[in-house]
This record gives sequence, C-alpha cells and structure tokens, in this order.
Amino acid sequence: MKLPYHPRTWLDRTEALRQRGYLELAVGDAYKAVKLAKSILSVSRRHGANIGYGMGFCILSQGLSPRAINHAQELVKEALDLLRQCLVDVDCYSDAHQLLQSDDMERLTTHRACQDAGAGSYVLRRYYWMDNEHFSRSKDVLTQVNEELRSTPCKVGFSKIPTTPEAGSNNWEVSIDWDTSESVHGSTENSRPDAMLGLFATRDIREGETILVDKTDVSAKRVLCDTDCHHCLIDLPKPSAEGSENSLDSILCSGSPYLPGTRRRCSAVYCSTTCQSAARDSHHSIMCGKDFTWAQGLMISDKILLQVLAYCVQHGCHPLDHPTVTRLTPQYGVKRYVSLFDTIEEPIEMLLELGVDIFVDQRFDTWVLIMLKARIDNNKWGKNTNDKEMAAVRSDNSWLQNLAY
Ligand SMILES: [Zn+2]
Ligand SMILES: [Zn+2]
Repeated sequence: MKLPYHPRTWLDRTEALRQRGYLELAVGDAYKAVKLAKSILSVSRRHGANIGYGMGFCILSQGLSPRAINHAQELVKEALDLLRQCLVDVDCYSDAHQLLQSDDMERLTTHRACQDAGAGSYVLRRYYWMDNEHFSRSKDVLTQVNEELRSTPCKVGFSKIPTTPEAGSNNWEVSIDWDTSESVHGSTENSRPDAMLGLFATRDIREGETILVDKTDVSAKRVLCDTDCHHCLIDLPKPSAEGSENSLDSILCSGSPYLPGTRRRCSAVYCSTTCQSAARDSHHSIMCGKDFTWAQGLMISDKILLQVLAYCVQHGCHPLDHPTVTRLTPQYGVKRYVSLFDTIEEPIEMLLELGVDIFVDQRFDTWVLIMLKARIDNNKWGKNTNDKEMAAVRSDNSWLQNLAY
C-alpha cells in the first residue's frame, strides 16, 4: 500500500469498499482515516511530537503552518462525515448520531452496543481475496489433528447423511469418510459442501471411559481475580503463612517487574510453573509490562480475542493461522452485529497496545478481525456458575458441534 499514513489513502479505500458492497469493512477504513487525520491535528498542538500514536511516521521540529492546520481540519471533517455515512450504511444509527454530537472526543464512542440494541448488522461471507486455508479447515490441519489423535480411539472425518429417514423414524443412515488426506479427491472441507466434518469414535466405547482430553491455551474469565491462576483459571491455593517455596509468591510472573511509569508489578499469578511458562510461551510475554488493566472490563469473548491477538503478535503469525483458530468451525451466511466500538475501535485499541502498526500490517486488517471474532463466537464454550463466568475456545468442540459450514 502506498502512503499508508495518509488519511486520503484510507478515505479512498473506504469509498472503494462501499462501492463494492463491503459496508462492514468500510467502517474500519473510515475509522483509520479519522484516527490519522486527528493525529495530524494533535501534532499541531504538540510541537516536535510524533504524528500518530505509536506510529512514528513523521517528527516535526516546528508546528504546522496555519494552512496545513486548516487542511488537516478539513481532512478530519471529511473523515468523520464518511465514517458517519458508513455507520448509517450498516444501520448503526446510534453510533452515527453520537459521532455527530461529539467530534472532539478522544475515543470516538464510549458505549457498547448490546447485541441488537443500537448495533447494525451484516451477513458474514467469504471475501474473494481470502485464501482457501483461511476460508475453511485445510487438509494440512485435518492431517495434523488426526496425527495428534493417533493414540486415541477418535478420528476426524467427513459425515454424510445420504438418505433422510421417513417421518417418525430414527433410522438415520450416516456414512463416514475417514480419509481426509490430500490424495483423495475432494477431501477438503472447502470442497465438500455435502459433508460435515466431525469427530468420531473408531471403536465401541465403554461407559465412563475417557477417550479424549482436550487442552486449550485460549480461555478467559469474566472477572479474573488475584486468587485465580491467570492461565488455567483455577482457584489458587491460599499462600502459607510462612511464605514457603510453594506460596503464591513463588509463582508470580517473573517477567517485567513493574509496569512502565508505575510501581505496580505485573499482576499475573499462576498455580504452577507449568502454567507460568505456558502463558509466557503462548501470549503473556508480549503483554507483560504493558498496562492492560482496562482489559479487565472487556466482555469475555473480547478477552479471548485479546489473547489470540497477543499470541499472533508474539509469534508473528496471521490471526487466522493461530494454531487453535485454524481448527475452528467457520460459519458463513449468518447475521453478525456490528458497532463502531465492538467491531472496530476495541480490537484496534488492543492492537495498538500490543504495538501493531495498524496502518501497515495487513495481517490485522478489518476483514481479518471480523473473521476472527466470528470464529471465536461460533466456537466459544463456557459456563457461568457462582458469578464466575468463564469461556474457552477448544478445538475438540469445533469437531463435535453440528454448526459446520
Ligand atoms: Zn494454572
Ligand atoms: Zn507478566
């Protein structure tokens, strides 16, 4: 992309997306245009400062000329007008109205749309530029999963119901095709719209027999306390009075001792060194030492989103190539709610906090975030007991549920 830090680039992209009917994506690009245009104005108030938050694309030793400031103000107005139009395009009338009233807000919106109240909507579909690997579960993923299941009486395969039983009959005839290998014609999920991927037992199972234990590194608790393990989420044992080797202090995060500019330590605590290193190797290294206290108030699925994004930044991978995300059931043709805060602003704030250049790094473009959120929502399982709402994204659930594309 040429000139990724110029608001005009994003204004043009917004118009192109609107013309092609990608209205939900146009909102994201218009938001970026506003963010860039506002950053130019903010520089005019702070001589010698970087333009943009963490973007570092221009340093001025003197302030902008009155003519340049005037031009920047016009850009802000144009970008805000376009963002309002984009929000109206997807029926986000309350967001559009709120923008109209508050042009100078640091954060563009302050409220969260709750489902259909105040939110617009769109239908999730395949974007034509998506790779097959990102559209559905690839044969490499299926081969890898079956390799991991080798020691269990389980296997992933395609199921098909060739004939529908007569009304009132329970005699469903199901054929299962175990072969997901590359050599078999039409063995990818993408090319088998007639069949459904699932996890099947390869032999009879005794009552009470454990056949599969699925672990996940992607889980979150609505309210994470100091007494919860920050990785496996179990209640931590009470520390002993003497402060022995096994007390809570011995498994505090050993990364950055203090958050920048504060005397506060990283608050992550773990039940074991196993959890400590698992969290560090997964996503905590990139988050440690950064102030994510604001993330405590996130909805549970957004906490999962943050964790997945942190993993991707830490490991330098595309979000749809995240090892768990590649196994999740995609679902297209469904109605999804959209709001400026939930769909655009909040994920972008996460990425900025994680140090991602949202204008250059196309791995985190709006369509990727939209697809990622949809996949998390479609595969999230959780429980809510004693006000301890928790949820996880687990690959075994994605094989067991019947919502496959
Ligand atoms: Zn733990
Ligand atoms: Zn830490």
